[in-house]
Amino acid sequence: SMIEVVPFCQNLIDEMSLDNSTKKIVLVEKNQLATGYWDAKLLRQILGNLLSNALKYSPLHSEIILELERQGDRALFHIQDCGIGIPPEDGDRLFEVFYRAGNVGTIPGTGLGLSIVQKAIELQGGAIAFSSEVGVGTTFSVSLPLRSR
Ligand code: ATP
Ligand code: MG
Repeated sequence: SMIEVVPFCQNLIDEMSLDNSTKKIVLVEKNQLATGYWDAKLLRQILGNLLSNALKYSPLHSEIILELERQGDRALFHIQDCGIGIPPEDGDRLFEVFYRAGNVGTIPGTGLGLSIVQKAIELQGGAIAFSSEVGVGTTFSVSLPLRSR
């Protein structure tokens, strides 16, 4: 269905911020990205899981950025945090069910979120990539065709 991207993202951020007053999520529009045609439940799973990871794996009082960008006939969503980062040796397996990186310590998790994200992106003809530096932060980038259904 037709999704107005900015209000959709802002609603999700507001909702997620209710139980996270110590970390801030900021919405940034790189250029005009008005609407897309996606499954709203799947988009919610994608952005919700990536934002919840960004919150969970970053220190108190740090800022998370959700940046929106239109690139031709695709929408890009960049989720950037200043958290613990992902060790290079764990990168290949991150989207596997139950897989967690070696540096999560006592931070709780099941290792399911990213496998759901990957499936939801796949179902809509999109792609996901990330870049990360341990101790510095991580950026996940999701690319979705503006019209997937
Ligand atoms: P859950 O099933 O509750 O989401 P999880 O967060 O451990 O548990 P995933 O969301 O699938 O599982 O993420 C898999 C692993 O990827 C995490 O355990 C963590 O090691 C790593 N990871 C994901 N996002 C980040 C991030 N933003 N910063 C650092 N590590 C991350
Ligand atoms: Mg997770």
